[in-house]
Amino acid sequence: MMSVCRSLDFVMAKSLSAQQMDPETSDRALRSSGRLPLGALLALALVLAISLSHLAVAQQDAVLDVVATTGMVGDIVREVAGPCAQVTVLMGPGIDPHLYRASAGDVDRLARAELIVFNGFDLEGQLGAVLARLGQRVPTLALAERIADELDGDALLEGEDQYAGRTDPHLWGAVELWALGVGVVEEVLSELQPGCADGFAERANTYASELGALHEWALESAASVPAAWRTIVSPHDAFAYFGIAYGFAVAGIEGISTESEASIADIRETADLVMETGVPAIFVETTISPRTIEAVLAAVRDRGAEVVIGGELFGDAMGEAGTPEGTYVGMVRHNVETVITSLGGRSAPWPEALDGWARRWSER
Ligand code: ZN
Repeated sequence: MMSVCRSLDFVMAKSLSAQQMDPETSDRALRSSGRLPLGALLALALVLAISLSHLAVAQQDAVLDVVATTGMVGDIVREVAGPCAQVTVLMGPGIDPHLYRASAGDVDRLARAELIVFNGFDLEGQLGAVLARLGQRVPTLALAERIADELDGDALLEGEDQYAGRTDPHLWGAVELWALGVGVVEEVLSELQPGCADGFAERANTYASELGALHEWALESAASVPAAWRTIVSPHDAFAYFGIAYGFAVAGIEGISTESEASIADIRETADLVMETGVPAIFVETTISPRTIEAVLAAVRDRGAEVVIGGELFGDAMGEAGTPEGTYVGMVRHNVETVITSLGGRSAPWPEALDGWARRWSER
């Protein structure tokens, strides 16, 4: 683009200096015929042609303004878009998407976006009305819902009790499922930014194979956990897809959303399950108060058994930007390692296929 700009300046300078050198001639020619001299016309035509091609290049190279709701959704767009998009994520580390309310600034930011990407399946419950309204004039992509279009119905999970009939939105828990979003994002970005399509395809390809390696690593690591301890107890059901993919039962105290408070009965039932299974560890999540898990811990100890908090899982939000957990791959690695080592298993060697990911997150 620089060379186009430079040659444009050069032609304009030449055209101007020709007029400046011979003002009388050009003045006479204009008066007598009402037309520009042939040389000036050619120069102008050239300037115009270069200006138009300059504009086309500028449009192709323009950076797409994308606003994403959660970090997981934003990360997949960043990976595929590369330098062709600027991605803003509304919900940072520690933010519970089920309860998140849009500020006036968020609504303004969303309204100015050229593409809004969100999870869908009611994950962003309080934001739903805003997204529906803005979706009438800003292109939107409900990523988990588009991934679901690629699956047969059986792969989708539903909530229980007060969430019965609602689709479980936590599809990112299973890397294999989430990886289907790479092609979806590539397709949507290419429609909006055709000049970057080759780059989107290349990055999507690389990232999809990295996610394939991550999935295999998670499977191999999970296989090391003893059968009796293959249960994840956490504050809410963020890990049901993770559990199906990697062979764990899940017991979230609050079900698939955090809209309702956990009851004393919920705590008691979870403590019963911990006693039955004998799992050595239960987990807290970064977006939810540890209060309910601490209550389960106390209830189990009251009954004379021992269980510990195995660590903090990234259920509904990624970690801090600039750390490995601030990316989807790092978030999954942390969750798998935390669950597996706390439940008596051992992580498999980290795949070399993910070296590129390590380079990218450290450069962000
Ligand atoms: Zn959740």
